[in-house]
This record gives sequence, C-alpha cells and structure tokens, in this order.
Amino acid sequence: MGVRHAVVAGGGIGGLVAAVALSRRGWRVTVCERAPVLSGIGAGIVLAPNALRALDSIGLGPEVWAGDPLLGSIGLRTPDGTWLSRTGSSAMSSRYGPPARAVHRGFLIDALAAALPPGVVRLGVSVTGVDDAGGTAVVRTSAGDLRADVVVAADGMRSVLRGQLFPRHPGLRHAGEAGWRAVLPGVGVPARSAAETWGRGERFGIVPLVDGRIYVYATAAAGPGTQPADHHAELTRRFGAWHDPIPALLDRLGRRDPDPVDVLHHDFYELASPLPRFHSGRVALLGDAAHAMTPNMGQGGCQAIEDAVVVAHLLAGDADVPAALAAYTKARRRRTTRISSRSRRIGELARLSHPLAVSARNLAVRATPRAVTSRALDTVLGWQPPPGPAPTVRA
Ligand SMILES: Cc1cc2nc3c(=O)[nH]c(=O)nc-3n(C[C@H](O)[C@H](O)[C@H](O)COP(=O)(O)OP(=O)(O)OC[C@H]3O[C@@H](n4cnc5c(N)ncnc54)[C@H](O)[C@@H]3O)c2cc1C
Repeated sequence: MGVRHAVVAGGGIGGLVAAVALSRRGWRVTVCERAPVLSGIGAGIVLAPNALRALDSIGLGPEVWAGDPLLGSIGLRTPDGTWLSRTGSSAMSSRYGPPARAVHRGFLIDALAAALPPGVVRLGVSVTGVDDAGGTAVVRTSAGDLRADVVVAADGMRSVLRGQLFPRHPGLRHAGEAGWRAVLPGVGVPARSAAETWGRGERFGIVPLVDGRIYVYATAAAGPGTQPADHHAELTRRFGAWHDPIPALLDRLGRRDPDPVDVLHHDFYELASPLPRFHSGRVALLGDAAHAMTPNMGQGGCQAIEDAVVVAHLLAGDADVPAALAAYTKARRRRTTRISSRSRRIGELARLSHPLAVSARNLAVRATPRAVTSRALDTVLGWQPPPGPAPTVRA
C-alpha cells in the first residue's frame, strides 16, 4: 500500500496535534487552515496531565513540557480571599504524573507547527465541504479539490463539516455566560498560585504561565451578544473590590504603558446535544467540531488533544479507514459527553447568584473531603493514551 493521504480541516490545537500524530504514523498530511496565519489567540491555556500524557505519547513531551509547572496551590476562593478548597500542586502531580502546565496558546500552536514536516500546512484555505461517496474522499476547498483517504474535521465549534454531515443536529446553544481573557506581564504582581474565585454569578481566574506572564480570565452570567462598552471599566466594576492580587491585576490590565493589554471577550457556547457519532464514512470529527463544551473544566483543548492521538493510533498501519473511525467514535464519544455534562453542571453552580444558594454552594464545596474531589477528577486527569508511534516513522 502506498503512502496514504489525510486532509485535516482546521489548524487549531486539535487539527495540528492530529497532523503531527498522523505524520508520525507514516501518513502524508495536508492541513487546510482558513486563517492567513496559524495563531493562538492572545490567551493562556491549561494543559492538564491527561493532555500532557497524550502529547508525550506522540513524542511532543519536550516541546510543551519546558518551563515550570503550576506552582503552589490550585484552588477555589471567595471574593474576600477565603479558600473554599485548595490542593497543593505536588499532591496533584504525585496522583496524576505530569503536573499541569499553563502556556500561552501562541506557544502551543508554534510548538505543534514546528513539529510538522515542511509544506503540510496550507494557510488561507477554507474547507467548504466533503464528497465521501467513492473509495477516497474529495475535500472541497477554496483552493480546489483534494483527494483524501481520511478527512479529519477539526474546524472548531462552528464546523462546516459537522453541519454538512449532521444536517439535523441542532448545533450550538448559548451557555448563559460570557467571559474575558487576557495575558499580563507578571512583573510586580504576586500571583504564583492558580486560583479561581467564585462570587455571585461571576468568577475570576488567575493562572501563572510557564513563561512568567499571568493569564487572567473572568466570567459573568449574560445573554448572547452582550458587549460591554468598556471592558476594563466593566471588569473593575465587577471585580475591583475582590481579594488581592485581583485589584492589582485589573490595574495592570487598564494601563496603556508600556504596552496596552489585549482583552478578549466571548460568549460561551456548547453543542446543544451530543452528536450521534464522531465519524461518517472516511471523515472523523474531533475537538470542538465533535463536542464543543463550556470552558468550566478547562478540558476542551485537552479533549481535542486526546481525540487526535486516539484517531491517529487507530489509523496506524494499513487500518481500514471506516472501521478505524467507527472504533474512534466508540473510544471517544462517551468520555467527552461525560466531561461536557460535568463542565455544564460546574457552570450552573458557578452562575448561582441568590445569596442563600451561594452560601449553600460554598458550604458544600468546603465540606467536600479532598479524597472525594480527587476521585471525581481521576477519570478525567488519569486518562492513559494508547501506545505511541514506533520511533522509525517519526518525522
Ligand atoms: C474562555 C475559554 C477558556 C478555555 N480554556 C481552556 C483550557 O484552559 N484548557 C483547555 O483544554 N481548553 C480550554 N478551552 C477550550 C479550547 O479553547 C477549545 O476546546 C480548543 O481550542 C478546541 O480546539 P479545536 O482545534 O477543536 O478548535 P479551534 O481551536 O477552534 O480550531 C479550529 C481551527 O479551524 C479553523 N477553521 C474553522 N473553519 C474552517 C474551515 N471551514 N476551513 C479551514 N479552517 C477552518 C479555525 O480558523 C481554527 O484555526 C477554553 C475555551 C474558552 C472559550
């Protein structure tokens, strides 16, 4: 059998990991990315132990494990600074292996792109559809048709290919929340521990990145399309009186000197219901295209990475493509559906705003023994990847 060709729609986290994993399994790969450049938008991302293990299994450990893991404690606080729950990162790492790392998205995208053979990524090329009737699939793109033995739809939460393959699926639904994200220079702001602070229907998160900068995010209950006129003023109004170092971080966010900080603001969406399958014939859907979830567990990208590693593993050798993709659905659908549901439930708890409900929630979080929380996380963070590719086929 000659070298088989995989076309990946989308050069985000999931698409690039799939491209690396498939090329290291001996596939010729073309990634079509509609944007003119590969870019990790200006925000951080937490790579949990399950994602780090998945990356390591395809030989990407050293690229993304550089720098210090999250230090100190990881936990949940109230706006006056009281800790509701707190876990030392060393306890987390002894339980789950590699400790979580928080990186800038741009760093991750660059590391993934650098791991690909030259010429794999075609920028400014949009995938518009797929014709999968014959022995190979034909991928329609803005730059012409491409023949493919397998197509990986990694085209994000508004996936064109999902819409084509599952026309009756209801698509996305608004999650009742919107969020802000920004990356700040760390200098002078003491924020070594990662923490999320829950108020009444609002949250503020602080995550030190491995490069010394600080990733901050905030959420608030909101309907679709709500855009504050001035993000800094809105964030200060909501969070300016919360515990240290939040006021100092907001102050840095508002300064234009030496450089203004970009603040991203997005509504949160998730798939309205799980897809019946993550494949159709020779097309596999992965990441947000397959299971867009709310960001409450910080697992959307981690699950995209797991998907990519699993689908490449199942497509290794001379695997029959449709059979391998049916096995991929079996391996991934249940797990990602559970994690999406859990993420939705966390969002519901975090959005509580009635004072009595908030007190009851906080009491319950404080009273939950650490062993119970850890057990609940075991299935998510303790995931083991399939065996990686043999070294001989590595690029
Ligand atoms: C506020 C927030 C915080 C988050 N924090 C975390 C976190 O800490 N940890 C975590 O694991 N996850 C996190 N997530 C989730 C994570 O960002 C997503 O799950 C992840 O980016 C999904 O990756 P993907 O490759 O499937 O899709 P995307 O990253 O959306 O990539 C899709 C790519 O496809 C391209 N594309 C789209 N349509 C086409 C087309 N027709 N043709 C060609 N190219 C196309 C796009 O330009 C894009 O580059 C967070 C999400 C949000 C909103």
